[in-house]
This record gives sequence, structure tokens and C-alpha cells, in this order.
Amino acid sequence: MLKKIKIKPIHIFIIAPIVLALSFFVINYRNNILKEALAAPKTLHPLTFYCDLDEDLVNFTKEKMETSIHDLEMEKYFNIGAPPGGSPPIDPPPPSTGFFSLPMNNACVTCPYEGYMYSSGNCHEGADFDGSGTPVGAPIYNVAPGIIKGWGLSSLYGYWVAIEHSYTLPGNPSPTTLISFYAHMIELPTSEVQTAGVGGSIDRGIYIGRMGNTGNSHGAHLHFALLTTMEINGQEPWPRYIYSVNPEEYLPTDGLGQCVILPACGGCH
Ligand SMILES: [Zn+2]
Repeated sequence: MLKKIKIKPIHIFIIAPIVLALSFFVINYRNNILKEALAAPKTLHPLTFYCDLDEDLVNFTKEKMETSIHDLEMEKYFNIGAPPGGSPPIDPPPPSTGFFSLPMNNACVTCPYEGYMYSSGNCHEGADFDGSGTPVGAPIYNVAPGIIKGWGLSSLYGYWVAIEHSYTLPGNPSPTTLISFYAHMIELPTSEVQTAGVGGSIDRGIYIGRMGNTGNSHGAHLHFALLTTMEINGQEPWPRYIYSVNPEEYLPTDGLGQCVILPACGGCH
């Protein structure tokens, strides 16, 4: 049975302070939470969570875009197939012994020519020189008398220099040309190269740069390629696989050490 409650003035005097006290407590509690949230926005501010999500999304998209750009660049820089309308060029015979010297002292090949596929599906167009005798900054030498073709800083090859060498073969008066290409150097080529300038002559054994880890490189080494032709667009070299030869078949073996081939360098065919 419900009992009817009669509200008398005395009740209002009792209830009103309780309601006021409760309201004060709730408002104060809410203000404290907001204050705390503003003081530590990274962990408590509700909007921060969404901002972080957006940042992740931006980074993810950026990464994807960079990967695609990188793959496109790779596609542009290497071409495993035959050039349009023709077959891949035949490798020229090597010059007489002594024409080429090694690009580094106390080095060995850690990843050979055709040692691996680039992410684009194309093939390693040079040989990687490294070894315990070649610390970061170790000197790199010009492998034969030649003409400086160019140098620069490329996103793929880091600091690089290219030198063109010509030699004649018995029974053939027209010279054969091979371009030596040195990549991932620690800095720009030496003053010997820069003073001679593009188109200038440079002799065999001249100190041209220092081994480094610039560009698309995972660990200091010298990426060394020999090419029958190579385009250069500004600071971007274009050492295509189809125009490359196996440098180890052209360079002397004397003075080249033996080292363990990197596990990732088992071949690209
Ligand atoms: Zn390489």
C-alpha cells in the first residue's frame, strides 16, 4: 500500500543542500577529468587517438607511394630483356692483361655480378667489393686510363663516379669502350676527379673516392660495374644490366681476396 508523501517546507530545507552538494561533486569531478585530459593530451585527450590513426595512415600511404616510386625507378634503371628491335649486345673480349687494375686494395667480392634480383625483377649489373681489409672510407682507385664521364649523388647509387676506357683488340682497329662505374661512395669523388672535370683524362690507379654506404645500400661496400654504354641524366646514372659485363672476367685476379658470398647473392636467373 502506497503511503502518500506530503512535501513540507522542512523537506526542501533538507533535500536542497544534498542536491547542491551532489551537483558540486559531479561538476568538480568532471572538471578534474578534463583538466587531466588537457594536461596529458597524448594519453587521455580523446581526439589524440584519431590523430595518431591519421598519422599512421599517412605514413602507410607515404611508404606505399615511396615503394612504388622506387620500383618504377628500378624499372627505369634496369632492363633485363633485349632492347626494342634488337638482341642484347655481345660482351666485348677483355683487353690485354694489365689494362685493368683492381678498384680497391685488400678487397674481395661479397656479392657477384648477377648475384641477385632487384625488387623490380631485374638483375645485379655489377659486383660488390668489400672485405675485412676495406673499412668504411677505404680508398677506391680508377681501374684503367680513361675519360671522366660524370659523377653525382643519386637516390639509388648514392655518390657515384663513371669513367670511360677505350682499348683496341688484335685485328680490330676500332676501339672497344667500357665504362667503369663506382657507386655508394661516402662522399663526392676526390679533388683529382673534380679538378680533371667531366671530359678530363684520368690515369689508372688514381685515387678517385672512398667506400661508403650512400644511396640504396645496406652496409658499406663498393658497387662496381663495367658497361659497354651508360646514359647519365643530370646526377642520375643509368647502368642497365643488358649493357653490363661481368667485371670479374675483365679485372685481374691477383690481389683479389676470397670472401664468403652473402647468402642473398645466390643468383638472379
Ligand atoms: Zn651491387
